[in-house]
Amino acid sequence: MAVSESQDQLYFALQTFTEVNRIITSSHNSDETLARTAKMIAKRIDVDACSIYIYDSDKGILILKATHGLDPSTIETVYMRPSEGLVGLVLERSTPVQESQMQKHPRFKAFPQTKEDSFSSFLGVPLIEHRRSFGVLVVHTTEPRTFSPLEVQLLSSIATQISSLVSKALLLKELDIATQEPSFDTKSKGNTLHFSGQPVAYGVAVGKAVLLQQSDVEEPQKTSSRTSESEMSDFEAAMDHTISDTLELIEKVTDRVGTEEASIFHAHLMFLEDHHFQEKIKTKIESGNTAAWSIYQTVHEYLGAFAEIKDPYLSEKGSDLKDVGYRLLHYLGHEVLSVTKKSGILIMRQLLPGDIARMDTTRIKGIILSKGGVVSHAAILARSLRIPAVCIDDHELDQLKDGDPLAINGDSGVAVAFPEKEVLEEFKKLLVEQQNYFEHLEEFRDVPCKTSDGTRISLMANIALGSDEIQLPRYGAEGVGLFRTEIYFLSLDSYPNVEEQTQVYRELLENVDSDKPVIFRTLDVGADKAAPYMGFQEEENPFLGYRAVRRQLKQKTVLKEQLRALLFATGTRPNVRLLFPMITNVNEIRQAKELFKECRLEVEESGAPTAEIEIGMMFEVPSTLLICEKFMSEIDFCSIGSNDLTQYVLAVDRNNPHIADLYDPLHPAVLHLIDKLVKTAQEHQKPVELCGEMASDPDGCIILVGLGINTLSMNAPLIPVVKRRLSDISLPDAKKLAQRALKATSPMEVRKMIRESLPDSHTV
Ligand code: PEP
Ligand code: MG
Repeated sequence: MAVSESQDQLYFALQTFTEVNRIITSSHNSDETLARTAKMIAKRIDVDACSIYIYDSDKGILILKATHGLDPSTIETVYMRPSEGLVGLVLERSTPVQESQMQKHPRFKAFPQTKEDSFSSFLGVPLIEHRRSFGVLVVHTTEPRTFSPLEVQLLSSIATQISSLVSKALLLKELDIATQEPSFDTKSKGNTLHFSGQPVAYGVAVGKAVLLQQSDVEEPQKTSSRTSESEMSDFEAAMDHTISDTLELIEKVTDRVGTEEASIFHAHLMFLEDHHFQEKIKTKIESGNTAAWSIYQTVHEYLGAFAEIKDPYLSEKGSDLKDVGYRLLHYLGHEVLSVTKKSGILIMRQLLPGDIARMDTTRIKGIILSKGGVVSHAAILARSLRIPAVCIDDHELDQLKDGDPLAINGDSGVAVAFPEKEVLEEFKKLLVEQQNYFEHLEEFRDVPCKTSDGTRISLMANIALGSDEIQLPRYGAEGVGLFRTEIYFLSLDSYPNVEEQTQVYRELLENVDSDKPVIFRTLDVGADKAAPYMGFQEEENPFLGYRAVRRQLKQKTVLKEQLRALLFATGTRPNVRLLFPMITNVNEIRQAKELFKECRLEVEESGAPTAEIEIGMMFEVPSTLLICEKFMSEIDFCSIGSNDLTQYVLAVDRNNPHIADLYDPLHPAVLHLIDKLVKTAQEHQKPVELCGEMASDPDGCIILVGLGINTLSMNAPLIPVVKRRLSDISLPDAKKLAQRALKATSPMEVRKMIRESLPDSHTV
């Protein structure tokens, strides 16, 4: 490659990126875009061939989509499984793979039709979006060649830069096919169904409907090709596993959380050990059915009986039985639908953060929900993954079947089933417009965020899912303003131990430059963020209930384990901060700090090095903002959680779409509380950051800066949008708007006022 060690790598990558953008806008179709991208990469890094392979998750194969150097007539005809060849190895490992003489590598698989025999070296890097590899970028040289670490890094960074562009090009291609293929709009004109609801996560998507019932399983195959004896022994093995797992869960939950919570799993154990339940399953197996179907069928028979019971307490027990059935099926290789193998646009009544944490999100092109607001945790995660989503509460959705063609627009909240050609053309136009808009934002990525008069504002990233931190350089984040650690917990089947947590936190810290702050928030579980293993009891008002620090201070083991892991992972790294969620009174933050002190002593006694860690609290319960001066001597910094603050000040459930119009953080009552906190913190010289969705709201960010907040934390992809927005206004003007907002009577008035001053609201 024509890149010397001294060459500015970032500059190089940026130039490449700009060039790819240019190619996309000047190409006539997505095939041309991909082909020209491959050619440009080969030329820029001085190799003899460059190819792009994309993984088709429906078919489970990697397909050659574009090439410069291999025989172009083999595009779309050469394919391999992830378990085959060097390209498959890159996808499988999700890391770069290189070989100076590829033919000698044990995983080499020859594709003579591509005329690759003239090449010797191989370097492949994964194309990653939504945290998962969806393809592979490969380069070859004719001469045997070992690529230097700098060169590998360079190709990886190019892959990162082009990933989203490549995936958009593929989406465009799909739209092209859809508009040409009559089979896509099978029901053609007159059968098109239009739905309108609320926008949840921006972007457009087209694809086939994937209908999911939350925590449901697909009906397993009924008839077995095996003997009843082997089906029976599978069932018995699954039973043994599930019983021993349940016993382990009971032990863990009793230990870490409490006996009351563990009692839920006693109910599970009772079902498992129930003689009638077991007999019913066995009878079905003996009649020649598969073990999986026999379990599924028996559970559904019981559920039917439960549904008839008038007593709400008893009928609720049905969900325990469902859990038991799913765990048995899990051991027989049948997963709950939230880990479906289908890909397309998900239609789900409600999506919980735990579902997203566990899903293979590469398969999800878009989401239609009928429950859950724009600031629900699942919506926040969808936005961070850049998966378009809408919330539609319309019973007509029930008419849709798996595989029906769909198009959704997450900007306007619209969905169209059986879209006609003209509708798809519209979607295509939107997609190109969006792409152009994001391209334009690229110029903001590496410039510091400033208002038009040069006041510096710091923009940080909220992260939640594994490897989210890799988004930081991509969007120009200045650190992690909020790490929602609970999402990691929700992706697991049992509490992680100290070592497992240390590993995860350490990996994150290693991926973020040590001059950048990383703010860890301790476990904020409860309400919509709960995993089955946590043993949550039903609550009348879960958002006002046993959540976050309230729970952790009563179940100290879980919190202490997390604090110890955090200390071990931090070691001597500077700039690590700790944040406690849902504090309501001074006593809680004192207790939390006390626990942290105890953990620090324990870690130090073990001989591990520790660093200074600043302690802050979330200001998200109104009581803490009303008497904020009382907290100042207890903390090093303040973090405003505007998502919860808004729901508690306005008494509007953040997850309820029926009252979504009442939920607005720009309500003057919310602004008054923020104003009070900012002034008090300034008097006590305590920094304030805000990490709710308000920070990336095009109107919200203006008012927050005007109120004196100079650190905002948000979903990383929105950082360039906010930079651009803030560059349009001076600090004195933002201050004037904020003062007027405080005097307004409604959020609508506040928004109108801002839009009259700054008409272009740059929403995405
Ligand atoms: C908030 O409440 O604003 C916040 C950032 O926390 P979460 O959305 O995770 O409740
Ligand atoms: Mg919160």
